[in-house]
Amino acid sequence: MTSTAFITHRDCHLHDMGSYHPEAPGRLAAIGDQLIAQGIDPYLVHHEAPLATFEQLGRVHPAAHLQNLKRKSPEHGIVHLDPDTAMCPHTWQAALRAAGAGIEAVDMVMRGEVENAFCSVRPPGHHAERETAMGFCFFNNVAVAVAHALAVHGLERVAVVDFDVHHGNGTEDIFRGDPRVLMTSIFQHPFFPYSGTEKPAENMLNVPLPAGADSEQFRAVVSELWLPRLREFRPQMVFFSAGFDAHQEDEMGNMRLTEKDFAWVTSEVRRVARETAGGRIVSMLEGGYSLSSLARSVTAHLRALADL
Ligand SMILES: [Zn+2]
Repeated sequence: MTSTAFITHRDCHLHDMGSYHPEAPGRLAAIGDQLIAQGIDPYLVHHEAPLATFEQLGRVHPAAHLQNLKRKSPEHGIVHLDPDTAMCPHTWQAALRAAGAGIEAVDMVMRGEVENAFCSVRPPGHHAERETAMGFCFFNNVAVAVAHALAVHGLERVAVVDFDVHHGNGTEDIFRGDPRVLMTSIFQHPFFPYSGTEKPAENMLNVPLPAGADSEQFRAVVSELWLPRLREFRPQMVFFSAGFDAHQEDEMGNMRLTEKDFAWVTSEVRRVARETAGGRIVSMLEGGYSLSSLARSVTAHLRALADL
C-alpha cells in the first residue's frame, strides 16, 4: 500500500453561490461520506489546507486580479462576477484554502511524506485565467501548485492531466508556450468555455471529443495520444485537474464515462509517474456535479492513487 494525502478544509464548505447553484457545498460532503461508507477514509493521510499567500498566488495571477477579487468580496449577500460565478462572504477564504491545499500537497509529496495527494477543495480552479475569474473558478488552484513546484522545488518538467468535461482554459492561458509544463486534456466540444481548439501551443495536447463520447473513445485518446506524449516528456511530477463531470450520470456535460474510466486513467497515468517522477502526483478536484457519481468517482480515483 502506498500513502496518499487527503487535503481539505471546512472553510471550503462555506463558499455558497446560492441554493440553485450546482457548484455547491454538498459536493465535498458527498465525497467525505462516500470515503467513509467504502471504508477507505482511515487509510488516507488527512491534512488541513493552509491559506495560500499572495506570493504563491502572484506566481500565476497579477496583483491587480488578487486585489480586485478581495475588493469585491462582500460582507453580506452574494456578488456576481459573471452569471456563473459569485462570491459570498466566505468565498475569499475558501478560495485561499483551495489554492493553499495544492501548495501543501506539493510540499508533502516533495518532502516524501506521502507518494501522492488529493485535494478535496472548492471553489475549483481550471477556468480561472491569469486575470479573470470565471466558470465557478477564482484562483487557478492547479496552476498555483504547479508554479510552486517549479519555483520552490526547482522542478524542470511537470505535466498537468485534465480530464474534466470542460476545457481548462485558465491553465492553458497560464502555461501556454511554457516548455516546463505539458498539459494533456480532453473536453467536450463544442461546449463551454469554447476554447482549446484554435492552434493550441506546442505544450498543449488538447483533444476535443464530441457530445456522447464514451469509455472507448476516451481510453483510445489516453492510450494513443496522452501516454506516449507523457512518457516522451518525462515529467518530474504529475498534476491532475480531476473533474468528474464527464461521468454519464452528470448532467452538466454529455459524455458517457463511468467511475471505472476515472480509476483506469488514474492508474495509467500513475504508471508513467512511477516511471519518471518517483510516483509523485498531486490531484486537484475540479468539476463533478451529480453528487452520487462525483463521490463514487473520487473514491475510485483515490483507490487507484492509494492501491486500496
Ligand atoms: Zn467541468
